[in-house]
Amino acid sequence: MSPTPRRVTAVDTYDIRFPTSRELDGSDAMNPDPDYSAAYVVLRTDAEDGHEGHGFTFTIGRGNDVQVAAVQALRAHVVGRPLDALCADPGTLHRDLIGDSQLRWLGPEKGVMHMAIGAVVNAVWDLAAKRAATPLWKLLADADPAWLVSQVDFRYIADALTPEDALALLRAGRDGAAAREARLRAHGYPGYTTSPGWLGYSDEKLTRLARQAVADGFTQIKLKVGADLADDLRRCRVARAAIGPGIRLAIDANQRWNRDEAVRWTRALAEFDPYWVEEPTSPDDVLAHAAIRDAVAPVKVATGEHVQNRIVFKQLLQAGAVDVLQIDAARVGGVNENLAILLLAARFGVPVCPHAGGVGLCELVQHLSMFDYVALSGTTEDRVIEYVDHLHEHFTDPVRMRAGHYAAPTAPGFSATMRAESIARFTYPDGAFWAADRAQRKGAAA
Ligand SMILES: [Mg+2]
Repeated sequence: MSPTPRRVTAVDTYDIRFPTSRELDGSDAMNPDPDYSAAYVVLRTDAEDGHEGHGFTFTIGRGNDVQVAAVQALRAHVVGRPLDALCADPGTLHRDLIGDSQLRWLGPEKGVMHMAIGAVVNAVWDLAAKRAATPLWKLLADADPAWLVSQVDFRYIADALTPEDALALLRAGRDGAAAREARLRAHGYPGYTTSPGWLGYSDEKLTRLARQAVADGFTQIKLKVGADLADDLRRCRVARAAIGPGIRLAIDANQRWNRDEAVRWTRALAEFDPYWVEEPTSPDDVLAHAAIRDAVAPVKVATGEHVQNRIVFKQLLQAGAVDVLQIDAARVGGVNENLAILLLAARFGVPVCPHAGGVGLCELVQHLSMFDYVALSGTTEDRVIEYVDHLHEHFTDPVRMRAGHYAAPTAPGFSATMRAESIARFTYPDGAFWAADRAQRKGAAA
């Protein structure tokens, strides 16, 4: 008699919130007071190895409970799945989740439900990489190209990328992969930092952090803009003076502008030689991005952290609307959909510079860029992963930066595992931090 297959036995969820708004960390023109949060999911199993799959969606505070509820709505699809089959083919679960005949109405493939699918799918990939005793980037880079193609849902993108196109790209990507992997392990993957540029920081803090970024080896920093033009002119002048002419300065409006306003504002800041303008307008407005790109060149146009799925990414590429494509590990439907987006970008020859920061986004997305470098696009030229220097201490395998580069993770998994103490302390509303905070407020009000 064959042994009973091991299965997923539980999908645990946590509403975890960090009080980042108190220091204005993460403040931008659209989001002045974010409390960086994670709708966090843990897949437990009955396997003897004790491995768990960890994943999450990043949110910025209120609504994290809604996001957690969306993850819980997926539970029935996951509990009871045989582990071997699940980890050998996460794509089947991915298709089952996006294809749920009733939940699909809440999207389709966009918003809260889709982000919940991303959290669950990413947790499966974390589990698969842990069981394979390898970091996720390496699992993907070593995978058979035909198997990787089988992980991608080509529905709605086949007019731009067929399975045959994807297979050809991945086969070509194997050429020289061993040498690139050695280079990645030795030098890491280039990053850039947004830490100096939050909108709520003083000019003094901006100057100090911008100089520090250059001293730390970064060759690009980013500034939040879009609230007040006079302020932006002053802050760009301060930043450019701090970093000098040889360092790239990106600007990020976080969707603040209408199309024509984006053009006027970006042109007004052009004297400071911005490398790209990020999220100039609504992430859904493909045509406006194309018009802005035409009007502000040579300043590049970047977007993607709020692009909801592979279909909108496809249109941005087809319309020639972006110079820089910014994937996010926890916005779309997980690793499977990000594979589709990386393949689309490679097909169109557009560089991918992932969105990160938040809580845990750096930890996740580094794996996708490293896979892309080793086994798909084969280059880091004009490619950088965003880096923000906070909340890494809450993870068991935090990112490691060396001379402005992300060091390649060596621990098995997706680097998604948060420390148990952090989960307990920052669970909302009853974790130790929030309970004490509430008591203190009550005391102050009395
Ligand atoms: Mg941004």
